[in-house]
Amino acid sequence: MSQQVQFNPELVQRYDVAGPRYTSYPTAVQFHEGFDAELYRRFVRESNSELIPSPLSLYVHLPFCHSLCYYCGCNKKVTQHIEQGVAYLQFLSQEIRMRGELFDHDRQVTQLHFGGGTPTYFDDIQLEQLMANLEHAFTFAPARDREFSIEVDPRTVDRERLSRLVDLGFNRISLGVQDIDPDVQKAVNRIQDPQTTLNMISDSRALGFKSVSIDLIYGLPLQTTASFSKTLAVVLGARPDRLAVYNYAHMPEVFRSQRMINAADIPTPQTKLELMALTIEKLTGAGYVYIGMDHFALPEDELSRAQREGHLHRNFQGYSTHSECDLVGLGVSAIDKVGDCFAQNYKKIPQWQDAIGRGELPVWRGPSLSQEGRLRSAVIEAIMCHSAVNFQEFSNRFHFDFNDHFALELHRLQLLADDGLADLNEDGFTLTAEGRLLMRAVAMIFDEYIQSATDQPRYSRVI
Ligand code: SF4
Repeated sequence: MSQQVQFNPELVQRYDVAGPRYTSYPTAVQFHEGFDAELYRRFVRESNSELIPSPLSLYVHLPFCHSLCYYCGCNKKVTQHIEQGVAYLQFLSQEIRMRGELFDHDRQVTQLHFGGGTPTYFDDIQLEQLMANLEHAFTFAPARDREFSIEVDPRTVDRERLSRLVDLGFNRISLGVQDIDPDVQKAVNRIQDPQTTLNMISDSRALGFKSVSIDLIYGLPLQTTASFSKTLAVVLGARPDRLAVYNYAHMPEVFRSQRMINAADIPTPQTKLELMALTIEKLTGAGYVYIGMDHFALPEDELSRAQREGHLHRNFQGYSTHSECDLVGLGVSAIDKVGDCFAQNYKKIPQWQDAIGRGELPVWRGPSLSQEGRLRSAVIEAIMCHSAVNFQEFSNRFHFDFNDHFALELHRLQLLADDGLADLNEDGFTLTAEGRLLMRAVAMIFDEYIQSATDQPRYSRVI
């Protein structure tokens, strides 16, 4: 497939509709409480009894933070009361034990991710104990086969702590930066010395992390093309392996913390368009490959390779190379994907703790996929990961006729193809370099839950 991308302002504006990011299909908005812990156990049992059971990918949600970043849309708890974090870890250890008992022990953990919140809110001893609990409950793959990653807030870590993370087995690191401009940092309440971040990137490399990823956000208050250009130049100077450059979606009605942002300081849609164009120009100019949905990687990075070789996968952490794994979510609001089901934990800490305290799995909701859901999920993943769908391949895999089944969708796709988003012929379709930036508009065509592409207030927009 082509990994080219091209910014076309007219197309971006025309298709600037609110839509899901498709880290899952169905998306979490469609999850329902008709799915419970009992059903989840059934799916786990079935996954254990597969001829060759899938390896496991663990996601551990650590929701605590020391201070509030106003743009934040994560499920987090900002507190200085560290005893709340201690209690959380105790319940988490019980959940780890309960989940671990469900999965056969010959299923190795090849992928592990600590996300937040701020995982490094916890000290080295607490993280060490957490890792020991995980290793006790699950079977870790040999070190050479592991992809263990952690999200790090550079304000909470120094070189010594980084070194401890390596000792714990982490070999990939993701650093939250967002913007280095002092005025922007002040407007979003995240003051972070750029030099600290740069030191952390070089220290991570020196300590042996295989991949360093940086998160930036465009569209933050007081950002200008000049200021963000400087942010990009400084970050690109350190040449991280991966960059995620997210669009800030101002949705104060959904995310309370965003009410602290002065709406008048947010860049206009025209400036956001320019910021997006600038990002693509600078990153592709520096040799980065556009993976999809805000993610860029160096050509030799595993994500770029997986995309070229056709085994890239999309999940709740973005993009992944481990499509073969069943995903086990641990902690408040975490989501599992086991076989053909999704299962999400309670979103609020008290409910999550109450369930665990009663000795129950804290499963709150989720869907199990029908044949139709599986099919649509696979089509949407192919669009989001590989920007292409081959009709025959899908017809063979799902034993149906793609053209008949999706006649209406293909009719709608033709309109987008006429606009230049995709090349569509009798064998399949491929997104154009311009269409790849609007991949979710194409994916939405195959989303049976979306009737109107213009009325999706729970989702963010492209710009
Ligand atoms: S952006 Fe990260 S560090 Fe900031 S409040 Fe949200 S989860 Fe915490």
